[in-house]
Amino acid sequence: MDNTEKIHDVIIIGGGPAGLMTAFYCGTGGMKPMILEALDFLGGQSAALYPEKPVYDVPGIIECTGQELSDSLTEQVMQIEPYVEFNQSVDEIKQIDGVWGLFCKSGKIYKTKAVVIATGKGAFAPIKLGIPGEDDYLGKGLTYTVKHIADYKGKDILIVGGGDSAMDWTCTLKDVAKSVTLIHRRDGFKAHIGAVNQIKAMAEAKEINMFIPYEIKKIEGKDKEGKNKVEKVTIFNNQTNEEKTFPAQSIIICAGFKPTVDALKKWGVELNEKGLIKTHDICKTNLTGIFAVGDATEYIGKRHLIVMEFGEAASAAGAVSTHIYGKGKGGAEWWAGPKKKKTGNVEVDKDDDANKQPVGAK
Ligand SMILES: Cc1cc2nc3c(=O)[nH]c(=O)nc-3n(C[C@H](O)[C@H](O)[C@H](O)COP(=O)(O)OP(=O)(O)OC[C@H]3O[C@@H](n4cnc5c(N)ncnc54)[C@H](O)[C@@H]3O)c2cc1C
Repeated sequence: MDNTEKIHDVIIIGGGPAGLMTAFYCGTGGMKPMILEALDFLGGQSAALYPEKPVYDVPGIIECTGQELSDSLTEQVMQIEPYVEFNQSVDEIKQIDGVWGLFCKSGKIYKTKAVVIATGKGAFAPIKLGIPGEDDYLGKGLTYTVKHIADYKGKDILIVGGGDSAMDWTCTLKDVAKSVTLIHRRDGFKAHIGAVNQIKAMAEAKEINMFIPYEIKKIEGKDKEGKNKVEKVTIFNNQTNEEKTFPAQSIIICAGFKPTVDALKKWGVELNEKGLIKTHDICKTNLTGIFAVGDATEYIGKRHLIVMEFGEAASAAGAVSTHIYGKGKGGAEWWAGPKKKKTGNVEVDKDDDANKQPVGAK
């Protein structure tokens, strides 16, 4: 049967860390979740925006890259055999005959008893600085994301920003680049204090250059054919107007990403002033049967970190199970592992009775 013909237990919109782990915990609770992903790969931001950046703060993994994290999450989640459909961008959510209908831009409509919104910051739209030359040099040395660290080998790099991404890229790229200069337009940093202190120590040790409060004034450069190519940049102190001009072949702007809330607004979920979903009482939205996890949400104490999303995923699976099967039945469970368990290099077929019925099914 085609996936559009069934009424699914739960459909998770978005295959980033939050959506993947929600699928996993739904699976451990005996449900057969489905993931709809707008892109043609899983992993969300860690695969799309920072595949080569080191990640140090996922419990149990001392260090991995964004891509490695996505790959191992995907492998872990595939053990519960979810349905996954790629290139399905959910555009509208409406009630159809007492269940939720998810209307995709492709024209496909999926029906489900429960929905978990795990759309992160939506389609990733970088926040632009509005500086001269920003659009002209985009993709010609100026970028908002780093895909391949090797592209920066031996280059003079200018990194702009005061958040975690700017700190991360400064730390990571200083070892491959010829030089890294970090500028930030104000004294205060949004980044984690530990990262800021590390960057300040690097600047003191002259491993990087750091100029605060500085902004970009001018980008210059042409290739042999006369087309734009970043070669030189002029920055200015926004308090004294003092200017500095230096060679730079790459400019990485880390001003964050705008949530594309247009879809969320259409879906009728209650949003806060930042356009993020207000969740109440563990991942519930204002709409019955619609839950939300991950970067798409905000509540008191929320940090947009993968570790929080994993916890929300377990809570959401429990809430979904209660919605479908009733209170106290099912949800994220201790799990005895996949049906075919690998023991050393031998695959063992396990007695799978426990997995035949959803834990909470009547
Ligand atoms: C540069 C950078 C470095 C970071 N480093 C770290 C770090 O070291 N440690 C850490 O804990 N966190 C880090 N983060 C934050 C972390 O990546 C996010 O908190 C996490 O990715 C959020 O997961 P998510 O699943 O909620 O959303 P996302 O990862 O944003 O995934 C959402 C998914 O939903 C899909 N989607 C969106 N809209 C739709 C739609 N309408 N229909 C179908 N699919 C849709 C998207 O294509 C995407 O795949 C970093 C973020 C950035 C930008």
